[in-house]
Amino acid sequence: MRKPLLAANWKMNMTLNEVKEFIKVLNDAQIDYKEKDILIAPPYIYLQELKKRLKKVKISSQNIYFEESGAFTGEISPTMLMSIGIDWTIIGHSERRQLFGDTDDIINKKLLLSIQKGLNVILCVGEKLQEREAGIEKELVISQLGLDLKDVTPEMMKNVVIAYEPVWAIGTGKTAKSQDAEDMNKAIRDFLKRRFGRKISNNTRILYGGSVKPENIKELMSRENIDGALVGGASLKPDSFLKIVNF
Ligand code: PEP
Repeated sequence: MRKPLLAANWKMNMTLNEVKEFIKVLNDAQIDYKEKDILIAPPYIYLQELKKRLKKVKISSQNIYFEESGAFTGEISPTMLMSIGIDWTIIGHSERRQLFGDTDDIINKKLLLSIQKGLNVILCVGEKLQEREAGIEKELVISQLGLDLKDVTPEMMKNVVIAYEPVWAIGTGKTAKSQDAEDMNKAIRDFLKRRFGRKISNNTRILYGGSVKPENIKELMSRENIDGALVGGASLKPDSFLKIVNF
């Protein structure tokens, strides 16, 4: 019922030549696009190249600013993205939260403007290691969601995908146990049901991210509430990303 979404977050990686090679391999590959959605979030400067050459793949930015235009040096607005045909963005990635000061309030503003302008959003949430060790991971993630989704209506949720990404699993090689990821995704779905009702809760895709690799994708995807993956490191090489896509 929920179409799997396999998403690559390239972060600040790849040269233009590497991007061109990646495109070539992906275009030559067998992928059943009816059965699954594939998304790539490259650095901004490669968005148009990818959009032009990968017709069946969804192309996403990794971040967005919460104003439409103006004196915000170095930033990109949802309106600008839409004007080049890009209708996806990631918001709230833990690296944005930790390194660039994105608070839940900022994330909420980014999300509201993005949806208002027609973008689809992958909203990332996740606990830090100390929070998991203290046993408060579910409260923490649900509280993040409450703040990040402030003033979001059920109608707007059609544009939202949630990615549960425990911070301690990102780029560390430590994947969450599939049962722990399933438990969190179930807790997120229960929150969505309380907040938006059964239909939205059933229809919203909830991904897992954090050291996803070809070796663990199948197990993760076998879980009822894991509808896809957000992949960092293992998405940088076309072979490895393809193995994940064709899990
Ligand atoms: C990410 O950047 O969202 C991520 C999950 O990274 P990695 O797969 O490298 O842990």
